[in-house]
Amino acid sequence: MKRLFGTNGIRWKPDRSEYFNFPIKLGLALGHYFGKGKCVCIGMDARTTGPIIKAGVASGIMAAGCNVIDLGIVATPTVQFAVRDLETDGGVVISASHNPPEFNGIKCIASDGTELARQEEEKIERLFSEGVGCANWQEVGKCVSDHSVIAGHIDYILSQFQALPEDKKLTVIVDGSNGPGGLLTPKILSRLGCRVITINAQPDGLFPGRLPEPVEEHLGDLKDAVVDAGADFGVAHDGDADRAAFIDEKGRYVTGDKSLAIFAKHILSKEKGTVVVPVNTSKVVIDTVKEMGGAVKITPVGSPLIARKIAEIGGVFGGEGNGGAIFPKHMFCRDGMMSACQMVQIVAEKGSLSQLVDRLPRYTLKRTRVACPEKLKPMLLQEMKKHISAETSDIDGLKIVDDDWWVLLRASGTEPIFRITAEAKDEGLVDSKLAEFRKLTEDVIQVLSP
Ligand code: MG
Repeated sequence: MKRLFGTNGIRWKPDRSEYFNFPIKLGLALGHYFGKGKCVCIGMDARTTGPIIKAGVASGIMAAGCNVIDLGIVATPTVQFAVRDLETDGGVVISASHNPPEFNGIKCIASDGTELARQEEEKIERLFSEGVGCANWQEVGKCVSDHSVIAGHIDYILSQFQALPEDKKLTVIVDGSNGPGGLLTPKILSRLGCRVITINAQPDGLFPGRLPEPVEEHLGDLKDAVVDAGADFGVAHDGDADRAAFIDEKGRYVTGDKSLAIFAKHILSKEKGTVVVPVNTSKVVIDTVKEMGGAVKITPVGSPLIARKIAEIGGVFGGEGNGGAIFPKHMFCRDGMMSACQMVQIVAEKGSLSQLVDRLPRYTLKRTRVACPEKLKPMLLQEMKKHISAETSDIDGLKIVDDDWWVLLRASGTEPIFRITAEAKDEGLVDSKLAEFRKLTEDVIQVLSP
């Protein structure tokens, strides 16, 4: 059976031959999965191929006898909100999130608004590979449009915050990544009492402003805009606005781990509990949580796993170091708009973002990658373990933790590469650990290669 779903849904580059067949066939499998007579919400980001793929997936779903509510161009968390709010049986998002413009993707949402668990995705993969038929003409599904759900999502977020007092009004620059984030965040922050300036706010599938991933090298314009306007901070979304990256008032990029630590500190100052993060999270977060008297629960990489673990153990917060933060009192999923509002509240209460960042523990985290054939991936870690005398943990990949440093060795789920992450307070130590484990990886790959 072919695996279709990666750590965050299905991603591919739809070219001229794949506009129709794959989305319709997948839609049919989805319609069978959700069930005849059931109802699912479908939304998309602003990509050029979004309307074609959405129409194909929706056709397949209806052909299986399942009904569709078309939400139009919306953020992924808006679809998750809609599934809960409209009490539908599930949702589908047509988006490639942070991937370049030529990509698109499909993500499935369960009836509780969380991303589908892996075992559920396997059921869809089985239906897809076995092939399923269409309902008869009396039983095919209907499609209605509902574009009001964005307003509902905005109101729901704002219901959790107090508007800023007149003397605490902030200026925020919002970079919408030419996606749905540009439709939501400026409105939300304005209603919260901020002075908002936007860049890349109009949805545009050609992404004329910048590439959709909110990493430092793509956010030069936002950095300049923050400094030029004398703003309090800048916030940048990815293509489907489940992530938010921040620029402080000095124009410095705030890494996702640092913003997670700032959120965790704020939440734990109000309520003690457990913070859930994946195995590749910086010690900036772990140390901050412990300093604040909180507990840390480590999961494998992937936001659906983090969200489900938070729900399972009643965690107070969680997220990933890529700018995806999960506030469980809000929803069990990442929501970039919610992250932006939280940051407004924290900066208004506690002072400048640069000071919040500078008060965090200082670590250097670096990553490198080694080319690794897919067929060697399953044996590689076992073989490497034989050469490592230190204690290791295998929650996801292999993590070696020492007093002053840690290294994570993990095969990519989507590319023929092996990733090595190292972190320590001392940059020289990080470089030497990266070099040491890079050499070990290359040596073991050579030994295993036929
Ligand atoms: Mg995303």
